[in-house]
Amino acid sequence: MSSPYITLPEFKYLRPKTLDEALAILDRYGEDAKIMAGGVALLSFMKERLIEAKYVVDIKGVRELHYIRFSEGDGLRIGATVTFSEIEDYILQRGLVQRFRALYQGIKKLSDPVLRNRSTLAGNVVEALPIVDGPCLLSVFDSELKIVSSSGSRVVSVSEFISDEGFIDLKPNEIVVEIHIKDPPKGFVSTFRKYNPVTEFSMVSVGMSAIREGGRDLRDVRCVLCAATPKPVRLRRFEDLVSRVSDLRSSIDELLSSVESEAAGFIQDDPYASREFKLHIAKMLILDSLKELRSL
Ligand SMILES: Cc1cc2nc3c(=O)[nH]c(=O)nc-3n(C[C@H](O)[C@H](O)[C@H](O)COP(=O)(O)OP(=O)(O)OC[C@H]3O[C@@H](n4cnc5c(N)ncnc54)[C@H](O)[C@@H]3O)c2cc1C
Repeated sequence: MSSPYITLPEFKYLRPKTLDEALAILDRYGEDAKIMAGGVALLSFMKERLIEAKYVVDIKGVRELHYIRFSEGDGLRIGATVTFSEIEDYILQRGLVQRFRALYQGIKKLSDPVLRNRSTLAGNVVEALPIVDGPCLLSVFDSELKIVSSSGSRVVSVSEFISDEGFIDLKPNEIVVEIHIKDPPKGFVSTFRKYNPVTEFSMVSVGMSAIREGGRDLRDVRCVLCAATPKPVRLRRFEDLVSRVSDLRSSIDELLSSVESEAAGFIQDDPYASREFKLHIAKMLILDSLKELRSL
């Protein structure tokens, strides 16, 4: 059933020009103030009365948060107000598609250009719902968030940042200022797949990465199952097994039963699909991803 509300509740719109100004507003108004980046999620949730905000703090005018940089050995640093489209263009223009392939693929599959022109990766990660793709894409890489408040800054890995569906390690006076995706090592390959039969949102998604050695052997495999799980989940037993398997073809049954036993505990029924169906899709996405990584 859709929301009975069609209008936004009243709020005061604030547009700070500097990070210090934005932080001072959060200090002053606490829980009553909410940061807005693209506003795609925030305004929808306010309309549906799922988030309350007396003050909406639009950070798009904070110039120091609008940058994207890449350097060899360090990786990508993305400021909080950078949109998905800007990341997509940057990766393409700088010839970084192979290096950050899963991220690029995920952005290309994210809704449509209108939405990608508006919404930010930082806002997507803070939203932290299983159906959004940002946390999954970042979990394929070693990624960290830089978080700032008026009393200092800290860095937290994306996997620690999200503890459960919608539960994040962020205080009301803090702002995520930067996403750092560390430069992957030599031979790194990655891919992202999502199954979204009902809406743009993922029902099941899988991000996978590995180091390709000579030939088709994969090591340091990372397999992240998302959307069907409350937060991105690494399938570590499966990762371990794949790294040891020499002949993929003859080990498929073993690999799939490992996925099944490891993933089953995280996946639940919902009104759109049964647990068994989602598990089946997860296995197919994982198998496809594995084949792709070996062929890149
Ligand atoms: C039609 C439609 C289709 C969609 N399809 C997809 C899809 O295919 N894949 C997908 O991943 N998502 C999808 N989305 C979700 C969308 O991508 C996210 O809602 C969006 O990325 C959120 O980013 P934003 O910049 O708009 O965040 P906002 O709406 O501005 O903010 C989201 C939340 O994060 C907080 N916040 C934002 N920035 C910061 C910050 N820097 N520091 C601290 N808190 C912050 C806000 O207070 C709010 O709670 C879709 C949404 C719609 C409406």
